[in-house]
Formats: sequence, C-alpha cells, structure tokens
Amino acid sequence: MNGKMIVTLVVLLLSAAITAVGVLLTDYSQQVPVEIQSENSEEPPQKDNSEDEHESIQKEGQEQDEEESKVDLTDTWELLLANPDNPLPSDFTVETAVVQGNFKMDARVADAMKQMIVDAKADGVDLMICSAYRSIQRQQELFDAEVAVQMSYGKSKEEAERITATMIAVPGTSEHHTGLAADIVTPTQQTLDPAFATTSAGKWLLSHAAEYGFILRYPEDKQDITKIIYESWHYRYVGVEHAAAIKEANLCLEEYLEQLRGE
Ligand SMILES: [Zn+2]
Repeated sequence: MNGKMIVTLVVLLLSAAITAVGVLLTDYSQQVPVEIQSENSEEPPQKDNSEDEHESIQKEGQEQDEEESKVDLTDTWELLLANPDNPLPSDFTVETAVVQGNFKMDARVADAMKQMIVDAKADGVDLMICSAYRSIQRQQELFDAEVAVQMSYGKSKEEAERITATMIAVPGTSEHHTGLAADIVTPTQQTLDPAFATTSAGKWLLSHAAEYGFILRYPEDKQDITKIIYESWHYRYVGVEHAAAIKEANLCLEEYLEQLRGE
C-alpha cells in the first residue's frame, strides 16, 4: 500500500464513521416497536440473496390484478413504490434536475418542488432540503463503507452486513432512489427530528404540500403499515390529484395503492 492509498482509505473510513454517527444521532427507531425502523434502516439485507433475484418489482398479487382490471392506475411513475418489500432493480435510473443547492430530484417533479420552496418563502417559511435523490450506486458505496468499518472492528462479513443494515438502507429499497422524495428541514430545526412538525415549516408543509403533489410519506399513525418510523420531514411526490386523494382519505401510499388495486 502506498501513501496515497493509505490516505484514501483513512478518508473513506472517516467519512463512513461520520455517516454512522450522523445516522445514529437521528435514529429514533428505539422509540417505536422493533419491527418499525428508521427510513435509513428500512430493510433487512437482501443483496446476495438468491431468493430476491426471483422477486421482481411486481408482486404476484399485483400481476393478477393487472389481468383483471383493464387500466391499472397503480402503474404510473408518480406512484412508484420503493420499500423493503419492493426494492428497485439495481439498474434503475432516472433523469434528475437540481431543486436546491446540490440536491436533485426526478426532473419531472423538480419544478413542483422549486415552486413549493418559492411559495413557502413568500409566506415567510424557509424550506431547506437536506436529502433528495440518492443513486443506488451511492447507497451501495455508503453501505459497503460501513461494512468495512464494522469488519475493521473484528466483525465477520455477515455480521458486519447485518449491523450495517440496521443503520443504512439496503441499496435499492430507499425511496430516495426514486428521485421523488426529499427530506426537508428549516433553519431553526436542521436535524431530522419529529419536532420539525411543530415548526412553521413543518406546519406549512402539512397544510400546503399536497397542492404541489407531495405527501407526508411516513405518518405517525401509519407506522404499522409503512414499517418506517414517523418522519415529519420526508415528503414524497405522487402528483396533485393523488396527493389530494391521499390527504383527504388520510391514507399512506401503501394503503392508497391497495385501494386503487381494489384489494
Ligand atoms: Zn427521507
């Protein structure tokens, strides 16, 4: 190993450690039932598991319903589901556009997000994006770096991957890969904390996000269904009509999709 390689390795390990500490600091999964995890720990490891190879994006039930109904309303990019049970294919790609700073989202929703930020500002509310599109490749890098850190503590590869999966979403399963989701904070509340809901920005979003096509993706009263802790900061684009319907009926995306499929 030459000096340059060592420096690179040290930088990688340091950034992984900082990421891990950041995730731990914002991990509220301890406060809710065990099966409900933080968004950053959405899923058990499914990489390198041959079973998952057979599990395409579409589930059996979905395919059957498609045969029965002539028009499948759930088959639209706006309603793309990415969760532990519905991982995106590893080659999933999406055209992105900048929405704020260096943060990018699906180019088809970028204007809606930018307009929402402008309109909030006009109401005296500062919306700060702190996470948006994240590629599966980038997630894999974060995941692998943390596995390396855990292995440097003497853990086996298997154990290191298991521990990492409790802190960092397994690549392919985070909604941030879709380009349709963003974590939003505000200058007075810059950490991912349920308290964001009590800020003027949190309240403004609850009132107005649907007008721009965004929904609060992981509501407090839907944790049993989403399997993700209450995230007052995570908003997801579904389109103005779907957002209005979801808000009106007080559903989460999983429930709404079931309803559309007539389940
Ligand atoms: Zn998020």
